[in-house]
Amino acid sequence: IENVRKVYDGDSEVVAVDDVSFEIADGEFLTIVGPSGSGKSTLLRMIAGLEDISGGTIRIGDRAVNGIQPQDRDVAMVFQNYALYPHMTARKNMSYGLKLTTDLPDSEINERVEEAAEMMGVKDQLDKRPGSLSGGQQQRIATGRAIVREPSVFLFDEPLSNLDAKLRLHMRTELQQLQDKLGTTTIYVTHDQEEAMTMSDRIAVIDQGTLQQIGTPDEIYHQPKNLFVADFVGSPP
Ligand code: ATP
Ligand code: MG
Repeated sequence: IENVRKVYDGDSEVVAVDDVSFEIADGEFLTIVGPSGSGKSTLLRMIAGLEDISGGTIRIGDRAVNGIQPQDRDVAMVFQNYALYPHMTARKNMSYGLKLTTDLPDSEINERVEEAAEMMGVKDQLDKRPGSLSGGQQQRIATGRAIVREPSVFLFDEPLSNLDAKLRLHMRTELQQLQDKLGTTTIYVTHDQEEAMTMSDRIAVIDQGTLQQIGTPDEIYHQPKNLFVADFVGSPP
């Protein structure tokens, strides 16, 4: 991420992301934390290609992806509200994107779907529609849908925030196990400081669109660069 900016033009101009730069290593789990409105989702959506960028460069591997369509970026995003298609079965939800954007044979797609569903513990739910699944099950299907794409980068935007505290804790462990197993580079947005502290290789703290600090949980906690970081990470979630 190099000097990335996002300005929303509306009645009044909003600088949502202001000259943000950082690098993520292959296989790293990076968490982005910051208050509501600080630009976390905007940043993620720009990386996913769902939002035009106003300035700067986003590179995935050796490739600048500005202008490249979301489906060609080799990333998969999981949303806070899961964004499952209500009229499709879980199986169809998981396979649809692959069918649309690749020429993989159906047998291979089915295999990937079954494997991802197995990994997420929702193999028995594959023929149900989202409306008859619990929040946790929908979250697992949404994550499974990202897994089947076998992307280079996972983007998670507060994937657990709609779940109750107990399930959130459980899913946190599951996502960590997934990371251990797949080792996919992950950018994970959360409000939850505890999630950030326990899951991440590094944490990026943003406020009002600017990067305040990026470092290991230990660095962020013990050597905050400014009062904002100290206050934000220090205060209970
Ligand atoms: P939250 O934690 O509440 O999800 P966030 O950190 O994800 O917040 P963003 O959604 O990225 O924040 O929003 C950053 C800023 O950009 C906010 O001031 C928001 O009002 C503004 N913004 C976001 N989307 C749009 C849009 N489509 N048009 C205009 N302004 C927007
Ligand atoms: Mg957001």
